[in-house]
Amino acid sequence: MKFATQAIHAGNDPDPATGAVTVPIYQTSTYVQEALGKHKGYEYARTQNPTRSALESNLAALESGRSALAFASGMAAINALVQGLLQNGDHVIVSNKTYGGTFRLFDHIFKKWGLLVSYVDTSDIEQTEREIQANTRLVFVETPTNPSMTLTDIAATAKLARAHGIKLAVDNTFMTPYFQRPLELGADIVLHSTTKYLNGHSDGVGGAVILAEEGDAARLAFIQNAAGGIISPLDAWLVLRGTKTLALRMRQHDENGRAVAAFLSDHPAVMRVYYPGLAAHPQHELAKRQMTGFGGMIAFETGSKANAERVLARTKLCSLAESLGGVETLISHPATMTHAIVPPQERLRLGITDGLVRISVGCEDAEDIIDDLDHALRFQQ
Ligand code: PLP
Repeated sequence: MKFATQAIHAGNDPDPATGAVTVPIYQTSTYVQEALGKHKGYEYARTQNPTRSALESNLAALESGRSALAFASGMAAINALVQGLLQNGDHVIVSNKTYGGTFRLFDHIFKKWGLLVSYVDTSDIEQTEREIQANTRLVFVETPTNPSMTLTDIAATAKLARAHGIKLAVDNTFMTPYFQRPLELGADIVLHSTTKYLNGHSDGVGGAVILAEEGDAARLAFIQNAAGGIISPLDAWLVLRGTKTLALRMRQHDENGRAVAAFLSDHPAVMRVYYPGLAAHPQHELAKRQMTGFGGMIAFETGSKANAERVLARTKLCSLAESLGGVETLISHPATMTHAIVPPQERLRLGITDGLVRISVGCEDAEDIIDDLDHALRFQQ
C-alpha cells in the first residue's frame, strides 16, 4: 500500500463493538474483567488503551517500523528512549544543533544520572566517527535541525553506527515519514514530537518512538508502562485523525515553503535563508537524496535582534508563537524562545543569532503568507 492509503487505514479498523468507522476515544482508566485473570487484553489504561494502540499501529506502518510507542510529549518520548536503551556510564553522541529542549534533557538531566554525552556536528561524518568510544551506545541525530536546517546523512551515519555496534536514533519531527524514512535508510529508531506535523492542528501535545527491532520495542514498552509517560486517549485520537491528512498537508507545507523561501531569498532586508530546498543550501544535494520534499520550516537572518523584533511585531497572519507544524503559519525567535536554554556563546557558535527568525509555513494561500512577510520586512522604511 502507498503512503496516503496507509495513513488513512493502518490501525484504523472499524470499532469491534459498534462498527464505528472512526476509532473511538476510549476514555477509561480501567476495564472490567470477567473473572480473575480473564479479560479482553486490557487491564489498566496506563498499560493498554485501544485508541493509543490504534495510533501506535498507524505510526509503525508510516515509518516502516516494527512497533511504535506513543508518549505524553516529544520530550517524554526521548526520555523513555534513553531510559529504555541506555545505562549509567554509557556514552551517547548527540547532534549539536538539536531543539533546545533536547539539549536541556541530555545536558541537565541525563548527565546527572551518569550518561556521558558528546555534542557533535553530525553533519560531518568524520567528526561523528572521531567521537566514537568503546562505551558509545547511541548516536542521536535531528535532521534537519531546529532551527538551522542542518542535515545529517542518515544512511552514512547508520552505516558507521552499525559497523561499531551502535544504535542510531533520528528525530524525524520536521520532515515526517511523508518526506523522510530514517528506518529505510538504516536507522534503528525514529522519534517524533507528534505535537507538530503528525497532529498538524496545534491542538494536542504528544510524542512517539518507532522501532525497527522487537527487542528495543519490548524495552521501550516496559518503560512506557513502568514510568507511565503515556499519551492521553484524546491526544492519541487527535494524532490519529491528523495523520489521515498528513500527505495532503505536507504537500501544501512543501509548496508554500518553497514559495516563501524563494521570496525571502530575494528580499533585500534578509541576509540569509536556511531552507534545504534552496540550491544555495550547502546540503541541497543531500536533501534531494534523502528527502522527497523540503517541508515548511524556514529560518532567516535579519541582522540584529532589533530587526527581528520589528519583523515579529509587524506580522499579522503569521502568529508569534512557540511550536510548529500546524496548518496555521507560526513565526518565532529561536534565541529567546526555543533555544533560550542554550548558553549564548554556544548559540552563536551554532548560528542561532539574535537576528534569526524561524517560520513554520502553514497551509494558507502562499500569496497571503508572502504579503504578510513583505509588509513585516518593510520595517526599515
Ligand atoms: N524534537 C523537535 C525537533 C522539536 O522541535 C520539539 C519541540 O519543539 C521536540 C522534539 C519536543 O517535542 P514536545 O514539545 O512535544 O515535547
